[in-house]
Amino acid sequence: MDSFAEVLVVGAGPTGLMLAGDLARAGVNCTVLERRAEETNLTRAFAVHARTLEMLDARGLADDLVATGARVGALRLFGRLEVDLSRLPTRFPYVLVTPQYNTERVLEERASVLGVRIVRGAEVLGLRQDADGVELDVRYEDGTLGTQRAIYAVGADGVRSTVRRALALPFPGHSAIQSVMLADVRLGEAPEEVLTVNAARDGFVFIAPFGDRWYRVIAWDRRRQLPDDASVELEEIREITRRVLGTDYGMHDPRWMSRFHSDERQVPQYRVGRVFLAGDAAHVHSPAGGQGMNTGLQDAANLGWKLAATIHGWAPDGLLDSYHNERYPVGRAVVRGSDTLLRLTLAQSPATRAARWLLANVVGRFASPPAVVSRAVSGISIAYAARRGEHRLAGRRAPDARLAPGKAGETRLYEVLRGGNFVLLSPAGAAIEREWTDRVDRATLADATLPTVLVRPDGYVAWATDETAPASRDAALRAALTRWCGHPASDTKGGNLVQLRRTHE
Ligand SMILES: Cc1cc2nc3c(=O)[nH]c(=O)nc-3n(C[C@H](O)[C@H](O)[C@H](O)COP(=O)(O)OP(=O)(O)OC[C@H]3O[C@@H](n4cnc5c(N)ncnc54)[C@H](O)[C@@H]3O)c2cc1C
Repeated sequence: MDSFAEVLVVGAGPTGLMLAGDLARAGVNCTVLERRAEETNLTRAFAVHARTLEMLDARGLADDLVATGARVGALRLFGRLEVDLSRLPTRFPYVLVTPQYNTERVLEERASVLGVRIVRGAEVLGLRQDADGVELDVRYEDGTLGTQRAIYAVGADGVRSTVRRALALPFPGHSAIQSVMLADVRLGEAPEEVLTVNAARDGFVFIAPFGDRWYRVIAWDRRRQLPDDASVELEEIREITRRVLGTDYGMHDPRWMSRFHSDERQVPQYRVGRVFLAGDAAHVHSPAGGQGMNTGLQDAANLGWKLAATIHGWAPDGLLDSYHNERYPVGRAVVRGSDTLLRLTLAQSPATRAARWLLANVVGRFASPPAVVSRAVSGISIAYAARRGEHRLAGRRAPDARLAPGKAGETRLYEVLRGGNFVLLSPAGAAIEREWTDRVDRATLADATLPTVLVRPDGYVAWATDETAPASRDAALRAALTRWCGHPASDTKGGNLVQLRRTHE
């Protein structure tokens, strides 16, 4: 055995790096195995949406990332149809346009500072599980083979996931679009808008800036459908760009060009025993709507604290299974949403083309899509199922509530969430539940009329009450803390943790 970690994460893409950082913040010993020996500057995603920025804010990373990119307050779909993001109820009422390598860099720096071991040039070939743990077969850069063992493993190894195949899980779905061309180019003339996007009868074009005078072009030409390995000529991209946008902006000097196809697929189970799937390993769809990386980062935010709670021995029953139960429906909605957007964009049937024309030229001229669309695109409306009869806030995103000034000078909920714990938000004077202080931080709401709310480490409401009578409220709170945060520390004394860790010594 080469080494032991409590959690092995396969893949140092955005999903794996976010998860590893969260585990390390929670005191879990975590190693990331990454097949590529070198870091890469190839980038795919450009759009970081508001909910993802909130999650990065809850890790103290959002401001650094925002400084690397451009803020776009409205997303153009086609024609005049735009999704207005500027009125979203968040600190980040925009989509941040920044190359994926910037997101990966801030996540990797954080993970390294927190003590994650990132092993590059380590390709996972297969795995076995037993009652106590998981064993991964690894081939290192120099060709040697080895085995790494952990209590849990997570496949964040992208769309061709080896972990998913080793679990013998199907990846049902269909091919969404063929022969999409990608190119990194210089432009003679900068486009007026940060993101330039349009679709016409014959294809679509998307142009985004890297921020250093290089631009990424994504183009699709209905008239030229070639296999992925067919070479790409810049002239093909210039030609479809002129047809769709009316100009090719003097595109020249491509430094990289490629052709790819995109599928829409989702794995039916995000967990098999001690192994989990997250990010593109679990769901994949076309780049329409720019959701893939965002969804993967949110998978990681959902899974990290649950794995940590289990390893620390206080996770209530069913907490680990709630990862699949909560994230599978979100993944399914994202796959369906990007499918709908892609179908509208590529519309060919007279009825769909007419609907698209109406949206682009008539609806888009007089009205924006309703707020529900901007909330969905930004991730702000993502919510998890709550039990029947629970408070209306249960399962919903906790907004970044303003706090009464505390000792540490934190003024917003998302600053307190940086500790990685649950946060109990209550009006001044409410009773303090001392037994859970190792996993629950307390903050006092600036607005004393708001309900008492228990916020999960991933920024969703676990439980809330409008009850103000101290005795009933405190009894309900105690039940909620036991349900969500396990038995108080005095009951467990870390016993399970000691047991879990001993098994592997
Ligand atoms: C053209 C294009 C544009 C896109 N634009 C957007 C956008 O604007 N917004 C957005 O949110 N998403 C976008 N996406 C999707 C986004 O890029 C992906 O969803 C995201 O990269 C997924 O992250 P991940 O960490 O899950 O997987 P990946 O980024 O694929 O990372 C997986 C990692 O695992 C490693 N790995 C693989 N196999 C093994 C193995 N056996 N052993 C060890 N390591 C392994 C890989 O080397 C890789 O580093 C776009 C995608 C494309 C193709």
